[in-house]
Amino acid sequence: MALRKLIAGNWKMNGLASDGLALAADLARRVKRHPLDCDLLVCPPATLVRAVADALSGSGIAVGGQDCHTGRSGAHTGDIAASMLKDAGCSHVILGHSERRTDHHESDALVRAKVEAARAAGLVAIVCVGETAQQRDAGQALKVVSGQLAGSLPDGMSAAQLVIAYEPVWAIGTGRTPTAADVAAVHGHIRTELRQRVADATSVRLLYGGSVKPDNARELLHVANVDGALIGGASLKAPDFWAIAEAAA
Ligand code: PEP
Repeated sequence: MALRKLIAGNWKMNGLASDGLALAADLARRVKRHPLDCDLLVCPPATLVRAVADALSGSGIAVGGQDCHTGRSGAHTGDIAASMLKDAGCSHVILGHSERRTDHHESDALVRAKVEAARAAGLVAIVCVGETAQQRDAGQALKVVSGQLAGSLPDGMSAAQLVIAYEPVWAIGTGRTPTAADVAAVHGHIRTELRQRVADATSVRLLYGGSVKPDNARELLHVANVDGALIGGASLKAPDFWAIAEAAA
């Protein structure tokens, strides 16, 4: 049975109050005028989480964080606990994004501890995996993804607590995308791997991420085992994000 699709926007380090709130209000207006048969999520920078959550209240559009700390509180200057995201209006948090794995040297073990913190706080963890261009060229894409899943997922996760985003690093922000056949191969592999780790693996939503745009969304979103998309650049423009969501619905 097809899972309800999730279309998630990762705003990354973009947005002051003026443009972030205008984007949220635009999306809320669109969904009110024309409700879609898919779930929508936006992940603004931490400074805008509460204001965006307030602006989207009652719209059905969910709000997520882009990272969290492993701990519940304490002396961690600049970090944010999962419970703080929850308190500010989040239901989800993106963890292990390749930009954090690279910029902040996040290991699978650290991502796993963050997923545990998210679960303890009642947040759905969107765990990102994906290979670099060199790894793909070396024929290691499936092996890399398997290793990231094995290292980043705590035991005992359920579909209600977990979303996986397959984001080939070489496709993020580049305008390049894998072929539908490549996406199908990796997503099928992820589903098989999850069967060993998650009791209700068939219900875990698997998102594709990496240069999803209005003009390629329909094809990518209808590949087998693709249950939605994680969108960076195109999520910053309401018409583009909306067009991608319409392609899913
Ligand atoms: C991302 O970084 O999660 C992403 C998918 O970015 P983009 O859509 O810009 O490639």
